[in-house]
Amino acid sequence: MAQFDAVVVGAGFAGATVSRVLAEAGQRVLLLERRDHIGGNAYDYIDDAGVLVHKYGPHIFHTRDKRVFDFLSRFTAWRDYQHRVVANVHGQLMPVPFNLTSLDIAFEDRAGRFAKKLTDTYGEGKKVTILELRQSEDKELAELADYVYENIFKVYTMKQWGQRPEDIDPATTARVPVFISRDDRYFQDPYQGMPQDGYTSLFEKMLDHPNITLRLNTDAAQQLTLTQVGTTLLGGEAFKGPIVYTGPVDDLFERRFGRLPYRTLDFVFETHGVEWYQTHGTVNYTVDQDYTRITEFKHLTGQTLSKKTTIVKEYSKEYTGQDGQEPYYAIINDENRALYARYAALAAEYPNLRLLGRLAEYQYYNMDAIVGRALDLAENERKGRTT
Ligand code: FAD
Ligand code: UDP
Repeated sequence: MAQFDAVVVGAGFAGATVSRVLAEAGQRVLLLERRDHIGGNAYDYIDDAGVLVHKYGPHIFHTRDKRVFDFLSRFTAWRDYQHRVVANVHGQLMPVPFNLTSLDIAFEDRAGRFAKKLTDTYGEGKKVTILELRQSEDKELAELADYVYENIFKVYTMKQWGQRPEDIDPATTARVPVFISRDDRYFQDPYQGMPQDGYTSLFEKMLDHPNITLRLNTDAAQQLTLTQVGTTLLGGEAFKGPIVYTGPVDDLFERRFGRLPYRTLDFVFETHGVEWYQTHGTVNYTVDQDYTRITEFKHLTGQTLSKKTTIVKEYSKEYTGQDGQEPYYAIINDENRALYARYAALAAEYPNLRLLGRLAEYQYYNMDAIVGRALDLAENERKGRTT
């Protein structure tokens, strides 16, 4: 073990990015991953029907951050893909985020008046969160807010979080605002697309470096020990190099203050003997069904396969920490933040331990945010070593 300069736990975007940057700076990195594959939740593979699917739910890459895009572009070419989502509202399909086209579909001949009101009040091209729109005292805007709340947010949010939209972290519903525009893309970021040969291939290239030693099927707990006195052991011997941990922080400390709450998902994959199952990459079921959304992978990946397609339905439920369950969404509220802070304070007692990633930081981060944070962290580690 003395041969390693740094240890990274988790081979998702956080861990893989840090490993690569440290490796390129000349550090010998030991990367531990408890699953039998790399890629974290972005992992994709070819299913029995020959369709490229995402094992842990649909992942669409988008960012405003050129640095992140440039970094990832070293390991993949991109297929130009602009994600478009529709809500199925009692059989009628309308763009989500709810926009001026959705307004036409929902309100028909009254849509023009609502559109003018929205534009006059907020401005063309503006994004307004549903919670903000619901504050409106204007009668027509209040009617519109009610419609969007009832038909786009209420049921979907109850399914996804088990709570009403007004009771969850406002940043969550703000991800999908009402958009005063005819741009029906889910994201407006300048860089959007899918890795040409899939995410797993991107990760294989990122981790292909002589300074990276990857161990799959290896839980960090088998190799790392955090002692009571703030020192870390690797394979039973003192280890002073950086340890970047990207798993759930409560796991790291055997859930000593209790379990951090998460939502988990059941993914139900179905292969159908048709060219296309649905018109869009994703259809959100915002007023009925037990699942939240259906994604058809061929739309995302551009794969051409005749008369065969695979879809995934997502069912959300409480994470109980049971074996085989994965923690997907941190439930962000004051109580859980406070619990997280206790774990983070404990982690801070180990001077060489860094918490990084969606799980370790207990945040709702997209892939690009994670890569950005990983680049920053790796850069700091590198500088720390040379100064
Ligand atoms: P992860 O990908 O979770 O990787 C952590 C890794 O650490 C895992 O491989 C895990 O097995 C490993 N690990 C944990 N504990 C240990 C341990 N003790 N020992 C060894 N290994 C361990 N983002 C987007 O930008 N666009 C999207 O369209 C998008 N869609 C999403 C859909 C779903 C359903 C979900 C859940 C997330 C989505 N995301 C999306 C977010 C994206 O998945 C995350 O931003 C990204 O995967 C986070 O990377 P990470 O490395 O922090 O964590
Ligand atoms: N949301 C909703 N209806 C929709 C889409 C989103 O109510 O049709 C709400 C819901 O609370 C969801 C949140 O907005 O959890 C964020 O949606 P997003 O699509 O960003 O979720 P993710 O892709 O991260 O699961």
